[in-house]
Amino acid sequence: MKKTLADTLAAREIVYVNCGLPICCKSTKLDIQALIDRLGPDHGSMYQDLVGVFACSNCKGAGRERRPMFFTFVPDYQGHDEARVSKPTFEQTLNATEH
Ligand SMILES: [Zn+2]
Repeated sequence: MKKTLADTLAAREIVYVNCGLPICCKSTKLDIQALIDRLGPDHGSMYQDLVGVFACSNCKGAGRERRPMFFTFVPDYQGHDEARVSKPTFEQTLNATEH
């Protein structure tokens, strides 16, 4: 299944992009909205879609070899919690409609 930047934004997933060079280990939180502005909402948000897009600015500035970046996808735990907490209310509303 293809996952797009729009999907990632809708899921409110947090994406970190990390430098693959151990002595650098630069980690940046991605601004998904800014990425959509640049690449379009239909651009893939899987590893293979993004790996060619990023290069470590730290390493580039220091003249170090270019290593592939890797990505960390963090689900929106807070949003999931909110959905779980509000679920009983939702079920009550369904029951009221059925009977
Ligand atoms: Zn780096």
